[in-house]
Amino acid sequence: MDIIPPPSELNAPPPTVSPNGEDLDVDRIEADELPVRKLTHVSADRGTAFTVVIQRSTLNAMHVHGKSDTAVEVCGVLVGELRHDRISPYLLITANIAGDKASSRQTQVTFTAETWNMVQAEMEAKHPDKKVVGWYHTHPGFGVFLSGMDLFIQDNFFNLAWQVAWVYDPLAEIDGVFVWRLGKSVKADFLIEEDVDTHGHDFRSTLAAGSHPVVVTARRTRREQLANLALLTLVFLACFGIIWYGMVWMASHGFRVRLPIER
Ligand SMILES: [Zn+2]
Repeated sequence: MDIIPPPSELNAPPPTVSPNGEDLDVDRIEADELPVRKLTHVSADRGTAFTVVIQRSTLNAMHVHGKSDTAVEVCGVLVGELRHDRISPYLLITANIAGDKASSRQTQVTFTAETWNMVQAEMEAKHPDKKVVGWYHTHPGFGVFLSGMDLFIQDNFFNLAWQVAWVYDPLAEIDGVFVWRLGKSVKADFLIEEDVDTHGHDFRSTLAAGSHPVVVTARRTRREQLANLALLTLVFLACFGIIWYGMVWMASHGFRVRLPIER
């Protein structure tokens, strides 16, 4: 299916500095002021810069919403919290709240007063300890970028340093996240945190994530680590036993080997 994007979505404008100024910058977030949370169940070589992390279940839910209607754009807000671990400050996206869809193929998504009322009610009911950390919308069939209208929405509604814009193309199945750097919305890498049950085991949704994440490998669970340790110990004991048996055999067959037990 060919999707004709709305006229204002056809071209990405050249990057410009937000009217809110160059102070809008994720790299100016002070990690020390944030609560500490260990980032587990992701593994990646990452730098010390601000990182965007999304939970697998939230990514899946956003994809399901995006694929629910690929004839028009759909949008919603992202819910989460700011944390830091020993490497960097990071934004953890833990939920999405589905919003409106565009009225027709020729129009773009917008955030109306009714949408905001609904978002506020759902934040109070389900996520009282979390923040609105950004928004997402789909570009069915025309790729991941921010249009002039998208930048307008980002400048006016999501203009805190850590608020992000997520774009998902449900036909090409690609995701992109944009963060504030020196007042510009720039594309950034993101990590996926696998969902973990109360016993610490990963559980994966059977839904394909349909993304090209930076990270696909979950860190080993505690049980896997213990199993590996037990296996290593067994291998070590087996090697030691073979060497010991060999030395005893050589000693008993007349080889001149000085063993500690002969002293
Ligand atoms: Zn857009």
